[in-house]
Amino acid sequence: MTKPQHHEIVVIGAGICGATIANELLERGKTVCIVDAASSPASACSSHPYAIAHPHIGKGSPRLLRLTRIAFLLAEGRWGAVWNQHGIFQPTKKDKVFDRAEIANYLASIGLDERLAQPLSAVEAKEVCGITQSGVWLARGASLNLFEATNQALKNHDLLTCVWNARITRLENRDGQWLLLNENNVAILSADKLVIAAAMDSKALMSSIGIRVPLKPVRGQLSIFSVDKNDPWVEKLPRVGISGDGYCLPAEQQMDGSYRWIVGSSFDEGEDDLSPRELSDDFNREQARGLVNYAQGKSSGLQKGGNFVGVRCVAGDRLPMMGALLQRPGIYLATALGSRGVLWSALAAKLISAQVLDEDLALLTRFGLAADLVAALAPARFFAGALAAPSALGALASNSKPVFPSAPKTK
Ligand SMILES: Cc1cc2nc3c(=O)[nH]c(=O)nc-3n(C[C@H](O)[C@H](O)[C@H](O)COP(=O)(O)OP(=O)(O)OC[C@H]3O[C@@H](n4cnc5c(N)ncnc54)[C@H](O)[C@@H]3O)c2cc1C
Repeated sequence: MTKPQHHEIVVIGAGICGATIANELLERGKTVCIVDAASSPASACSSHPYAIAHPHIGKGSPRLLRLTRIAFLLAEGRWGAVWNQHGIFQPTKKDKVFDRAEIANYLASIGLDERLAQPLSAVEAKEVCGITQSGVWLARGASLNLFEATNQALKNHDLLTCVWNARITRLENRDGQWLLLNENNVAILSADKLVIAAAMDSKALMSSIGIRVPLKPVRGQLSIFSVDKNDPWVEKLPRVGISGDGYCLPAEQQMDGSYRWIVGSSFDEGEDDLSPRELSDDFNREQARGLVNYAQGKSSGLQKGGNFVGVRCVAGDRLPMMGALLQRPGIYLATALGSRGVLWSALAAKLISAQVLDEDLALLTRFGLAADLVAALAPARFFAGALAAPSALGALASNSKPVFPSAPKTK
């Protein structure tokens, strides 16, 4: 039998997550092999061309707020030419009264200064964004074509090997190295350090080494609407992105005078069917009415022009899973990016590369990534025993001699 090709570092999955991690390692001078079941990068959820990015400003968990702020700044700094900054407006919830001072205080309390987030009255919002609703203006909010970004991250590089059309079905540890086996049970690659960034398939790969991770699929459909130049909807179309119950991109006028408007997206828990649905387009028409506060807008004005359907991978607590598996040395997991692929991939690139390169994780505090945040992202948060031992979670934030409960059970 031929010996599997050996690499120090192998990444499974050439979506935005695996590609960004691989790119960070390449930039740091490491040799990387990336392997994917498809014949090219970004074939699955990361084929998404219209992903938005902004720091979360809702009243969520304090850790989520801190993490999205850090991740947004990392993503903004990372994507350069493909980062499309158009600003994103977040309207005030319908049951809330706009109070500028209260919102400004809240934004300051979560570390967002005026350059990142600014309260706007309805009159101001009309002027800045073309939307007559009060809310918060995220001037640096942007969208990213995940397909382009993934391909850019994996462009030819002397230190990069890509292995396409190779579905990995099982992992095995032999003599301290990780073997990657295909569907014929043949070990095609081996690695000292293995990054698993295979979205939902990470679950099966982890299970092959005896670890269960709680991941579930959430189908989503984004609608590309076409709006006739004489339709009443035209008056309501935004010049900026909007994020609220659903999201939309700025409407774009086409050569013939009509508008193209991307609105999304459905959130179908537990489903992974990729065929487009009329029902999902109808749902998005409803979201469109809510986003621009136009309850009387006719469905017929939002004509179907296309769509994007994908399957998000989501963890039980809606945070991504990223970090070293201390009970399986040499394995690093980066998955469950949910609806925040842009933000979490940028964060994963910094965190996973620091762990793979065995750096002192205290250095990550220069990005604001403190030990409690590293622990909140760690896959071990789902393993029995880990949460009961705060010292163990603290140790996850350090690369030096981690103290972890011996042989923790997985659930
Ligand atoms: C409708 C919708 C709207 C969204 N909107 C946004 C948004 O506005 N902003 C945002 O940031 N995010 C958004 N997202 C989420 C974003 O698209 C995802 O978080 C992101 O694409 C996930 O990237 P990934 O690399 O983890 O997974 P994927 O892109 O799915 O990549 C996984 C890769 O692993 C490969 N693979 C899988 N199994 C194996 C195996 N066994 N062996 C080898 N290779 C394997 C696959 O071929 C694939 O290339 C949206 C998602 C959807 C569905």
